[in-house]
Amino acid sequence: MTDVLTSTVETLARSGLFIGGSWTAAAAGGVYQTVNPADRSVIAEVANGTAADIEAAVQAARQAFDRGSWPRLSGHERARVLFAVADLIERDSEEIATLDTLEMGKPISSTRAEVAAAAAIYRYYAGLAGDLSGSTHSPVGNGFVYTLREPIGVIGAITPFNAPLVLATSKLAPALAAGNTVVHKPSDTTPLSALKIARLFVEAGLPEGVLNVVPGTGAGPGIALVAHPAVDKIAFTGSTGVGQQIIKASADTFKKVSVELGGKSANIVFADAYLDQAIADAFFGVFYTSGQLCVAGSRLLVQRPVYDQVIEGLVKTAESFQPGDPMDPATLIGPLAHQAQFDRVSDYVRLGRLEGAELVTGGHPAHPQGFESGWFYAPTIFSNVRNDMRIAQEEIFGPVLGVIPFDTEEEAVAIANDSEFGLASGVQTADIKRAHRVAAAMRAGGCWINTYNQWDQSISFGGRKASGYSRELGIGTLHAYTESKSVWVGLQSQPEG
Ligand code: NAD
Repeated sequence: MTDVLTSTVETLARSGLFIGGSWTAAAAGGVYQTVNPADRSVIAEVANGTAADIEAAVQAARQAFDRGSWPRLSGHERARVLFAVADLIERDSEEIATLDTLEMGKPISSTRAEVAAAAAIYRYYAGLAGDLSGSTHSPVGNGFVYTLREPIGVIGAITPFNAPLVLATSKLAPALAAGNTVVHKPSDTTPLSALKIARLFVEAGLPEGVLNVVPGTGAGPGIALVAHPAVDKIAFTGSTGVGQQIIKASADTFKKVSVELGGKSANIVFADAYLDQAIADAFFGVFYTSGQLCVAGSRLLVQRPVYDQVIEGLVKTAESFQPGDPMDPATLIGPLAHQAQFDRVSDYVRLGRLEGAELVTGGHPAHPQGFESGWFYAPTIFSNVRNDMRIAQEEIFGPVLGVIPFDTEEEAVAIANDSEFGLASGVQTADIKRAHRVAAAMRAGGCWINTYNQWDQSISFGGRKASGYSRELGIGTLHAYTESKSVWVGLQSQPEG
């Protein structure tokens, strides 16, 4: 680490939790270490928030919502803060990108792109903040009706480790733009960029208590946030199992919940596809972030006439993109984020072999020179996978691709939809009619035609079935952080006398 970065990390870690506009040690006094997955070195000792800190953060957010200025400002005034934070994110972009690369191993080229994306998301919602409006209906009854879009209240944002900055921003930007206050519980793997963003919000002029950040280990802090009666909505991105627990727990306090969950997305390659492009899209569609990607196209369906050619192309690509130093701008595949991820991937690869899938490349840890102790895993491809195998049905969330052969379009669609998940999907074909037919048939939140893993802040993103039922990004998400109120106005005077 450079001296500047070392001092940033020390400052962030030493400051503790961000609650009510102040930096504070955890109530129980605990700290925990974050670890660089590339070499297992300790990065920082971070305050370990518990339920007591969540309590303090929720009280601060409640106070800021019930009595503070933020919900009562015009959208244009809130936008000034969001535009300012976007500028500050760009000013400190290298530092923020490096924090996420250090803590979760995502290559620096990817975290740089995610910092740019975060600034774009803040600007997008800043632009919309001044335009948050309801509707009028006239005549209705004996007068007219207008609707107001009001902020919901206190939002609990709970985020995973794999795209720490962008997934936090996808919640914070619309929630704050709409006038809510927020308690953010980042993944315990990646607390530093969340704490850094809190610092930038202070600099941008966000009133105290509007944003609170409480990192902490284990499920405790998240459970406390979900159970808290003063929290009005939980915005969760993470695993399907935890999402299900949150949905159930939310019933006790009638909370709104948004859930963005796991995936096992099918990417279909027809024989008439532009094969070089299809192979590249299929490869990076699963191995980006070492497969720790919710939309990973981890089930690749390939039509038989080009099956061997696609396998050959994928193996060749895998061999030329082996994992390496995530801080090197040329690296495209880094380590897995932590030991549990490494163990999970190793277990699934063992299972794939037992299930009878044919391992055509990878299947073992990788040891880039100088990073022998890191949690690296070689890009792994199983051929002749059947869709009923567990490696085809369960989310591995690692660098493992299962390739399934098919004959007809009908069969490919049936296999693609035969999954408890429904997040993303892809189709590669030169036949324009087939492309749109297949996209329409996918039971998924999205479909990429002749491309994969594209996004834009103005396009809604989300899943179906076990992948969750909410949407993030786009204008609809701003509305999802508001309550609609109908105001009835009578215009008829009382009869005189
Ligand atoms: P995770 O579910 O283990 O943790 C996510 C967050 O929830 C963390 O902050 C964690 O501390 C917290 N948490 C854990 N138990 C909790 C509980 N009982 N109550 C409340 N909060 C709790 O997920 P992860 O391992 O960090 O991330 C990987 C998962 O996230 C994968 O399944 C991936 O597909 C999914 N994901 C989905 C999307 C999407 O947009 N659909 C995007 C990224 C990641």
